[in-house]
Amino acid sequence: MVMKTEDLLHSPLRVIALQDKDLASLALSASGGAFPVLARPIVQCGGIVFGAEMLPGGAVRHVGVRSMDELERLQGSKYVQSDYGKTFFECAEALKTGKTVLWTGTGCQIFALRSYLIRQGLSEGDMSRLYTADVICHGVIGQSLFRQYISWLEKKNNAVPGSLHYEFRSKRRGWGLYYRYTYKSIRSGRMKEKFGAGDEDPYYAAFLSGKLYRSSCYKCRFARRERASDFTLGDYWGIQEEHPGFDCAAGASVLMINTPKGKTYFETSCESACKVQESTFEKASRHNFNLIRSTQRNEANAEFAKKVEDASKRGDVDFLFRGLLAVRSTPGALLLRVKRRAGWLLPMRAISRARLLLRRLLRPGQIPPSRS
Ligand SMILES: Cc1cc2nc3c(=O)[nH]c(=O)nc-3n(C[C@H](O)[C@H](O)[C@H](O)COP(=O)(O)OP(=O)(O)OC[C@H]3O[C@@H](n4cnc5c(N)ncnc54)[C@H](O)[C@@H]3O)c2cc1C
Ligand code: SF4
Repeated sequence: MVMKTEDLLHSPLRVIALQDKDLASLALSASGGAFPVLARPIVQCGGIVFGAEMLPGGAVRHVGVRSMDELERLQGSKYVQSDYGKTFFECAEALKTGKTVLWTGTGCQIFALRSYLIRQGLSEGDMSRLYTADVICHGVIGQSLFRQYISWLEKKNNAVPGSLHYEFRSKRRGWGLYYRYTYKSIRSGRMKEKFGAGDEDPYYAAFLSGKLYRSSCYKCRFARRERASDFTLGDYWGIQEEHPGFDCAAGASVLMINTPKGKTYFETSCESACKVQESTFEKASRHNFNLIRSTQRNEANAEFAKKVEDASKRGDVDFLFRGLLAVRSTPGALLLRVKRRAGWLLPMRAISRARLLLRRLLRPGQIPPSRS
């Protein structure tokens, strides 16, 4: 049976801002930790949680985990297309043997999973133990470019091959779009670290520019209010404007609860583990356009993407990362970097409070713009 997108969609029943109360776990999550808040009760009751992990060398794949310790592997965003391999099959087998499952991924992956399970003829009882959560999604870049980037970074930094570990959402300086990577130096044998803003890193900046996604991402059927999953997770960008009292320095998630089953699960098993602020779809989507429409790409950017693809196929990594994708230092970009570095000397909470105060003094009743 071929499923139509509309057959599996739900409008959100509740939209909230959320922050995990477990601060050690929150530090590992990209946003406010909505994912571990949903995942912990599943593993605690002997269930399986599926999500994306990054392997040494930069490969990203879906995997199922069964313990609290293993959840860490799935935390943090990997801005690369994840290979879901055999996890649909593993998910079906787990449900058939009475296990509870949480499967997390992009909207298209959740739709494909649910279509697969329907085709496998799983019973209503089996399906009632499945929970799904999709991430709000800009789009994904195929794996080969990122793997080439990791191996290029290792050579550039004279790192022991296979030792470089890259994170897209480091919170070393608070919540934002910051990368961090560590590697073992061949020369000294010591571990080294690099950290910076996403738009200062060639691969990350290319991801954020939205020029290199798979072509299906530019006409994504899942970038809309109605979703195919029980939950939708993302960054609550703009929370300082929409809910100024919410302390977001360590991260804030937007969580859309889309189904009655998801609502019951969240309210009985997850809600007490996090700080919650009621919100609305309108507020959350004002700062997060991928909740409403897919990323757009013009002709010039499509031609640029073709050049990148050709260079990648030729394996011309220096041309890719020192040439085509090199980060240009315009005066505006330089100024932004200086501003950021100055900002890093102060704690994020102090900056947010100072900005709020300043705005209120300048324009009573107004609130400051978001950091993103
Ligand atoms: C490719 C991509 C694009 C995104 N675009 C946006 C956006 O435009 N706006 C926005 O608000 N949020 C976006 N997000 C979501 C955001 O970056 C966080 O992943 C999300 O808020 C979950 O954070 P958390 O703190 O709840 O979970 P964390 O504890 O950080 O857990 C991460 C979760 O994301 C999943 N995940 C990570 N990487 C991938 C991947 N490559 N493929 C599938 N699933 C993955 C994991 O399985 C896990 O469920 C995007 C995420 C990805 C992966
Ligand atoms: S943008 Fe849409 S099609 Fe592309 S990965 Fe995300 S959900 Fe899938």
